[in-house]
Amino acid sequence: MVPPELVFGCGHTPHDLNNHVPTSECVPRAKLCAWTATWRDMLLRGELRVDRLVVVAGGDCHNALVDGQRVAHSGIPTHYFFYPFDGNEGEMRDHLVSLEAFLGGITDQAALDGVADIKDLCIQLDMARCRRQVLGSRVFNHLIQLCDLGGDPERFGASVKRALEDRPSDVPDIRIGLVGVPPIYPDFHEVCESFGMQVVFDELPWEFARMGGRTLTTMARNYAGYTFARDLEYRFDALERELGRRRVDGIVHYTQYACHHVLEDDMLRERLDLPMLTVQGDLPRICPEQERLRLEAFAELLRGGGP
Ligand code: SF4
Repeated sequence: MVPPELVFGCGHTPHDLNNHVPTSECVPRAKLCAWTATWRDMLLRGELRVDRLVVVAGGDCHNALVDGQRVAHSGIPTHYFFYPFDGNEGEMRDHLVSLEAFLGGITDQAALDGVADIKDLCIQLDMARCRRQVLGSRVFNHLIQLCDLGGDPERFGASVKRALEDRPSDVPDIRIGLVGVPPIYPDFHEVCESFGMQVVFDELPWEFARMGGRTLTTMARNYAGYTFARDLEYRFDALERELGRRRVDGIVHYTQYACHHVLEDDMLRERLDLPMLTVQGDLPRICPEQERLRLEAFAELLRGGGP
C-alpha cells in the first residue's frame, strides 16, 4: 500500500512485491505469514531485484515491518512509510512528503495525473461488476494491480478500458463480498464463479482504487482514510456501507495463517448481519479441494438449498 502515483510522479517505477506471491514457487524459510516471507526470501535469494525498498511500517502489517527490515539489512536503500491510526491528514501529508524526498521529488506531474485518471476508470470498473457487466474475476485482476499498474500505466489503462467495453456472455447471479486481505490462491475468484458466485466487492483492492490524488494535499486527504490502518469501528462502518450498496447475498472472509486480521473474524460475524464463510490460506497454490467443497456448499446455502 505505497501510493503508486507518487512513485511514478517522482520518475520511478513501482513494483508491488505481493503480486509475485500467489504464483511463486519459493518456499520461505522461517515464516509467519507467507505473503511477507515469500517476497522477503525472493529478494534475499536474488529471485526479485529492486533498486530501493519502501516498507509500510505503520498502520498496515507488523510482519511486513519485520521481514522488510531483514531485507533492508542486506543493503538495499529502504524507506519506512506510515499511516496514522487516527486518520490525521496533516500527519499523512508529512509521511507523503518524506516518501517524496526519499524518491527524489516529484518531476513528472503528468505521470501522477495519469495514474489518477486510471484509478477513476477502475472505480467505474469496480461498480460495473455490480451491474453484471464484467466478471468479478476480471475486475479483481485489475484492481489488485493498482499498487503498481503492472509497471506500465499506458498498457494497464488500455486493459482497463477493454474490460469496461467487453460484455461477458454469462455472469453468476449470487453476489458475494470478499472481506479481509486478498486470497493467496490465484484462482480464488474463478472458483467462486464456477459455483455461481460473482464477487462484487473485494475489500483491499477497493481501497487501492478509491485512494489517490493529484497533489500531496488531496493524496493526504484520501490516504488518511485507509480503513485497514484505522480503528475497527471505522473500517466496519465502511464495510457495512459498501456491502449494503452492492446488495451482497453473503460474505467470504479470507484470512491468512499467522495474520493478526484472523482475530477480527468473530467481530465481523457479530457486526455484519449476513451469511459468512471464513476461509484460511497459508502457502501460495491453487485453491485446495477442501476449500472448493466449502465454497460449493456456501453457494448452495445462499441459493436456498443448504441446511
Ligand atoms: S496477510 Fe496479514 S500478516 Fe500477511 S502481509 Fe497481509 S496483513 Fe500482513
